[in-house]
Amino acid sequence: MNTENVIIIGAGPCGLAAGIALQRQGYDPLLIEKKNVVHAISHYPLHQTFFSSSEKLEIGGYPFPSTERKPKRHEALVYYRQVAAKSGLRIHSYEQVESVEKESGYFAVETKPWNQPKTSYHAKKIVVATGYFDHPNIMDIPGEDYPHVFHYFRESHPYFQKKVTVIGGKNSAVDTALALESAGALVTVLYRGSEFSSAVKPWILPDFYSLVRHKKVDMVYEAEVQEITPTHVRYEKNGQSCSVASDFVFAMTGYHPDHSFLKNMGVEVETDTGRPVHDPMTMETNEPGIYIAGVLAAGNDANEIFIENGRHHGNRIASSIRKNSCTDS
Ligand code: FAD
Ligand code: NAP
Repeated sequence: MNTENVIIIGAGPCGLAAGIALQRQGYDPLLIEKKNVVHAISHYPLHQTFFSSSEKLEIGGYPFPSTERKPKRHEALVYYRQVAAKSGLRIHSYEQVESVEKESGYFAVETKPWNQPKTSYHAKKIVVATGYFDHPNIMDIPGEDYPHVFHYFRESHPYFQKKVTVIGGKNSAVDTALALESAGALVTVLYRGSEFSSAVKPWILPDFYSLVRHKKVDMVYEAEVQEITPTHVRYEKNGQSCSVASDFVFAMTGYHPDHSFLKNMGVEVETDTGRPVHDPMTMETNEPGIYIAGVLAAGNDANEIFIENGRHHGNRIASSIRKNSCTDS
């Protein structure tokens, strides 16, 4: 049996930051990651620019130099790889945590390394930092599972001179529409709201509004999407049924944490917000010994916790684990 003091599930920026914070409290945590470090960032659009400046993405006090004030995806990948290597964190990549069960005095953790049989560990404490990016918000409408419908955008070239409909009205939808238009796609955006909210970064909107004014992007507000067919997207606006011809559809409808993964380990999740029940001072959940770090803590609201603030959760967790271990002994 592999016995660990602390297991961190997920090696995104906030899991890595929690690992370094624990190291500084004298622990040697094991991070278990189902893909590779910062998998969510590697899955961003290829040419993504962060909205955060590089110092707001720094973890563990390691400096993040970048050519512009706001770094690009590939610079962040280099940075977090270097932090993972320089910090000496123990990371088991390509190993998925399948379950965590409370036993007397420890947690039993079952994992599946991608090329080996299942493995088990015993751990005194668990930090869950599994993010939300693997679970897109499904609209649950007919046609959503057609192969020309996507919940992730990678790059614009394949859509040159094609009719593309983007669904959604926040940062991913606006960014995707801008990238597609610049590559010569014929873009329509369908948004259920009547205007963009303050969650949309204000500096991307002038370019977008300009494209709408010049009829280079067709923007439809108050559009409730009903169905996707092989050739069209059908929606309702003001009680009228409308449709737009679409060769491809990007449903940029956001992402949510895997609630069942948390519930199965005894963590309660608020029904209305999707927020795991936890003490924000320590990040410990209702299940003593299980902590959460990163965007997971915000539940279904993707615009409350980012790397910028989620990177600080690790310090609270490490202090709490240190304090509890003093009390325990
Ligand atoms: P994640 O980065 O999602 O990491 C979770 C990790 O857990 C993943 O690597 C995943 O593979 C792993 N995992 C999941 N389940 C398991 C399991 N069962 N077993 C093992 N491993 C598991 N934030 C900012 O602060 N600034 C920005 O400019 C910014 N730009 C963004 C641009 C885009 C396009 C997007 C989509 C997001 C952006 N964000 C930004 C948000 C940022 O990406 C997230 O806040 C951040 O990734 C959260 O980090 P995390 O460590 O909590 O989770
Ligand atoms: P998001 O912020 O959750 O927005 C999802 C959008 O989809 C919202 O407009 C929402 O409508 C709409 N939507 C949700 N469910 C829907 C449904 N069933 N039918 C129709 N529309 C639906 O997701 P996101 O834009 O992908 O952003 C995710 C995270 O990534 C955020 O933290 C964001 O800041 C970050 N991000 C950053 C950058 C950048 O740094 N440049 C770029 C992209 C994303 P409502 O508005 O009505 O809720």
